Amino acid sequence: MPQSRINTSLSVVGGESDILPSYVQVLRKWRVALCTTHGSCYTRQNLARHLFEKHRTPSDQRRRIESNTQMHNVAATNSDAVQPPDGTEEIHGLPTVLKYLCHFEQCDFRTTSTDRIRQHYNRQHQWQVSRQGAMPWHQAHVQTLFSQSQAQRYFAVVLADQVH
Ligand SMILES: [Zn+2]
Ligand SMILES: [Zn+2]
Repeated sequence: MPQSRINTSLSVVGGESDILPSYVQVLRKWRVALCTTHGSCYTRQNLARHLFEKHRTPSDQRRRIESNTQMHNVAATNSDAVQPPDGTEEIHGLPTVLKYLCHFEQCDFRTTSTDRIRQHYNRQHQWQVSRQGAMPWHQAHVQTLFSQSQAQRYFAVVLADQVH
């Protein structure tokens, strides 16, 4: 992430000790805290480290954020967060990317590369274009709550401007 995008505004001051910084939003439904500056969600286990490493938040402020009443709605770890299902309305503050999705039920393979989805159909589903015809993969806009590569889990979203 470019350093210039780091939001250093401090909205946690003095008597407003139960107010979260403007760039931290608690998404109760998915039990995560979203950092809109970095486009990723965090849990109680890793939010403080993120604030320290990327926002240079001083320790007394980090402690106040961690004990904020809204943080009670945030999961302790990534695995305790709620994974949004496909078809969720786009979450503001998370990046949206276009991906190819395998059409087989029970298969959650998703990729941004047409070569990789072709390979996937060949290898995982023994799909031969010459025999079965065109590969019927889906294309969808997706998001992931967590940007860290080992925690990425993509779900298809309905773009905000397409919600009626
Ligand atoms: Zn951040
Ligand atoms: Zn598949």
